[in-house]
Amino acid sequence: MKEHEKLAIDGGNPVIVEPMPTGVSGPSIIGDEEIDIVTDLLRRQQLFRYSENSETAAFEKEAAELLGVEFAVMVNSGTSALICALIGVGVGPGDEVIIPGYTYISTASAVVAVGAVPVIAEIDDSLGLDPADVIQKITPYTKAIIPVHMRGTPARLDALIAVAREHDLKVVEDSCQCVGGSYKGMPIGTLGDVGTWSLNYYKTISSGEGGLVFTNDRDIFERASYASDPGFPMWTKSAGDGWSNPPFSSQTYRPSEITGAIGRAQLHKLSTVIEHQRAVQNAFLGALDEGRGYKLQHMDDPGGDTGVAASIIVHDEELARGYALALEAEGVPAATIYNEGIPDRHIYSDWDSILNKQSPHPTGYPWKDPAYKGNVEYSKDMCPQTLSLLGRSIRFDFHMNLTVEHAWLMAQALNKVDAALG
Ligand SMILES: *Cc1c(COP(=O)(O)O)cnc(C)c1O
Repeated sequence: MKEHEKLAIDGGNPVIVEPMPTGVSGPSIIGDEEIDIVTDLLRRQQLFRYSENSETAAFEKEAAELLGVEFAVMVNSGTSALICALIGVGVGPGDEVIIPGYTYISTASAVVAVGAVPVIAEIDDSLGLDPADVIQKITPYTKAIIPVHMRGTPARLDALIAVAREHDLKVVEDSCQCVGGSYKGMPIGTLGDVGTWSLNYYKTISSGEGGLVFTNDRDIFERASYASDPGFPMWTKSAGDGWSNPPFSSQTYRPSEITGAIGRAQLHKLSTVIEHQRAVQNAFLGALDEGRGYKLQHMDDPGGDTGVAASIIVHDEELARGYALALEAEGVPAATIYNEGIPDRHIYSDWDSILNKQSPHPTGYPWKDPAYKGNVEYSKDMCPQTLSLLGRSIRFDFHMNLTVEHAWLMAQALNKVDAALG
């Protein structure tokens, strides 16, 4: 047994005495920029996005520049962005779309919303979609895959895109949790066919609710635009003229000008958030002892991570729960990502509406759609590797209200717990 200090859980002194600050990065940086522009819009009664000097249009343009893409359309949520992206690449009834078992449920519900069937695949130690399992899950009906970059860490994109290209599948990048991240020098969301952002309350930057679809592909852009607003060709003179895709009608996912304006003000602060989160994450990672009893989550490109979290993976679930309890006693809010009994809509085993194939309509679509010739099966234990990884993972969250000093303390607490339990 290694030499170690007495753990707080066993009556020793905790590493951290003051409660750690809490917070969410986007909302915590709201300042005069957001307040002034919203006040101005309200005074001018300017709530519609198709207006002169539109803030929403400026947000789209600036976001596209930042991402280095040709086209971006703002919508009212990340889920809407996924729906428009899927329609953009031509996913619909009869198609299967492969998604990871670890993502917010709306990745799955967006697939159902376009009439297609979600196929749930394993994650690997990147906590993103496992390329090897994607290959296993491909059927003649597979049309697209959705790599999800959870908690700011890019999935194994090189491998996933190679699989997709080989099997002629579209790649929709769910970058809702990775706004501001990159992968081998490319902004995240721009390596696949189409990318999506969410600007909901919990995301890197926030407009309360909001989303963005972005792509370099003209057809995807046109189709996503129609999908976002059946009135699209009416609102914008440019739309329709010279467009090669005939307009179709779907839903209205149009954001308000208030949403666009807050999104734009927050976009101007994105680099500040990312720099801060990365500094805190680096301080944490840099202060961890060598010779650990755990592994760090795999990162294909550590430099592209948004720094919003760091996860460790220990070798069994009971040990992980022991680490989590001991860390809490040391003053670090920590939990295993998956804990049987604690529902979490980010883990497929809690997606009852999907697992039970509950349709929004008596026909039972998309699973019972006559166009669908496949036969996908779901069960709570269908992705054992995913549940095992998440049950053995402990996540440390970073945000604007945490300092580098907090990160050192968190690392010290982990070092202490690891010396005792690892
Ligand atoms: C937040 C989130 C979404 C959906 O975003 P909303 O804006 O809440 O609709 C989709 N995918 C992932 C991975 C998310 O975290």
